[in-house]
Amino acid sequence: MIAPKVPDNENERLRNLQSYNILDTFPEQQYDDITTIASQICNTPISLITLVDKNRQWFKSRVGLGATETSREYAFCAHAINEPDQLFEVKNSFEDKRFHDNPLVTGEPRVIFYAGVPLVNSAGFSLGTLCVIDHEPRSLNDQQKETLKALSRQVISQLELRKKNIQLEEELKLKEERETELIRLKDLAEKSIVAKEEFLSNMSHEIRTPLNAVIGMTHLLIENNPREDQIAKLNTLHFAGENLLALVNDILDYNKIEAGKVNFENIPFNIIEITQNLKQAFIFKAEEKGVALKLFIDSDIPELIKGDPTRLVQLLNNLLGNALKFTQKGKVCLSIEILEENPDNLLLRFKVKDTGIGISKEQIDKIFERFSQANESTTRKYGGTGLGLSIVKKLLELQNSKIEISSQPEQGSCFSFDLRFDKVNEESAFVMNYKKKEQFPNSNKSAYDLSGIKVLLAEDNSINQIIASEFLKNWNVEIDYAVNGLEAVNKVIENDYDLILMDIQMPEMDGFEAAKKIKELGGTKAEIPILAMTASAMLGVRNKLHSFGMKDHILKPFNPKELNSKLAKYTRKIKH
Ligand code: ADP
Repeated sequence: MIAPKVPDNENERLRNLQSYNILDTFPEQQYDDITTIASQICNTPISLITLVDKNRQWFKSRVGLGATETSREYAFCAHAINEPDQLFEVKNSFEDKRFHDNPLVTGEPRVIFYAGVPLVNSAGFSLGTLCVIDHEPRSLNDQQKETLKALSRQVISQLELRKKNIQLEEELKLKEERETELIRLKDLAEKSIVAKEEFLSNMSHEIRTPLNAVIGMTHLLIENNPREDQIAKLNTLHFAGENLLALVNDILDYNKIEAGKVNFENIPFNIIEITQNLKQAFIFKAEEKGVALKLFIDSDIPELIKGDPTRLVQLLNNLLGNALKFTQKGKVCLSIEILEENPDNLLLRFKVKDTGIGISKEQIDKIFERFSQANESTTRKYGGTGLGLSIVKKLLELQNSKIEISSQPEQGSCFSFDLRFDKVNEESAFVMNYKKKEQFPNSNKSAYDLSGIKVLLAEDNSINQIIASEFLKNWNVEIDYAVNGLEAVNKVIENDYDLILMDIQMPEMDGFEAAKKIKELGGTKAEIPILAMTASAMLGVRNKLHSFGMKDHILKPFNPKELNSKLAKYTRKIKH
């Protein structure tokens, strides 16, 4: 017996064979059909599709044979694969010195006649054979040989198809894995946004509570006849507190705007009054710096228009604040003119012009990026966070407008934007004016007389409690306390109050729940006005307050004027 030669490219050949992933798989119809046809056409009892593995030949399909594999050493096919271009025929094994004493010849399955066509794949590797076997010496005619070759090409096609399928499945699996990974990442991103919002909301509460204490206590100290030498220091303390609060508000606001969570109001407001208030707010600083602050309002602009006054103030506040901050001499000017007038609405152009340090062309694009300033020394010299203009830009984008800027270094800058406002019809203008006069007959006086009104203060934080009650006591308000929502409801059941100041975040039962319970009491109890005290600047709270039956809200840290006028407004104690 002569052992079969191992092909020169054996390692690569084996790798190729493995890439079909076919060894030791179950029988399959398409391969069995081929061996059946081969054995019938060649008229042999045995037909096989064999694959030559490292140490064995394994049969993917077999007709007339029980064994699933035999040792490579004895395999006829192991010889056949060495001649890839030819049909390998052994007419009589006994007469062939390579096979005459082969156990597969001398014993079962008695391979006396063998004809095999190598299965050569597209890369040129012989993987195995399609072969026919008989127990007697014989040969194949030309037609049988051609058919066997044709059938072997069918086997190769099946094998290639199988490989393509495997590749496709792998690609599909990879794609699915990638999709799952993307979904996971998206989930993670969404969760982290929620977490970030929660964090901000909590931080807002955590930061505002102590700030409330700082600002409120400073206020009380200033009002409590401080020593002459303490006044400046207290003012600084108060100013620093207010600044820190503005900063916290800016950061919160930016995040809300970025998350697209801004609702714009469309309510009537007095634009003349708003701009005059703004001027008032900045005049002190302007005078201090020796910078003139001018206001020009087109006389055709009606006093009352409809839109979002809070956001408008926020826009102008940012621009005026910057203008004044970056101007050392000359003037800062706010002008408002009508750009377009329709029966229902007005397009107004707002311009904030200064004669300050200006901004170079290269810096202009940069300043609208968040946390970015024209140059690094800005923070050191002027303070600020670099958030103001990003907020302005986003707020305008959300209202389909944009900020325009022209500037000359050392000469000054001009920031402008256009916004559309609805006109207010005469009837509602009259009602608004009337209401205002009725409610604030003495608006020039600083505080309304609240003596004798009885207020329930539901607040769990003791510092907030002290501050609120210091203010209330100053105005001779009678105060009762509750430290959680449940206690508040019980106090309302037992006593009569003119108004309830309700903290929102409280243990046991929060402010919303307590308000709901109080409304459910019905009768006069349900009529008691409830003002929410909220440290959270998160939007959406305002709508929620109304749906729980609360009239209005007061943002902590308290602005005493706001607290006083809201108490007056809702208890109707407005005589002085
Ligand atoms: P902040 O004022 O807190 O630094 P802003 O976003 O409001 O942040 O402004 C970004 C930067 O744009 C400022 O730091 C400043 O360099 C520049 N800038 C804004 N307004 C003016 C202005 N009126 N004149 C000169 N530079 C300005």
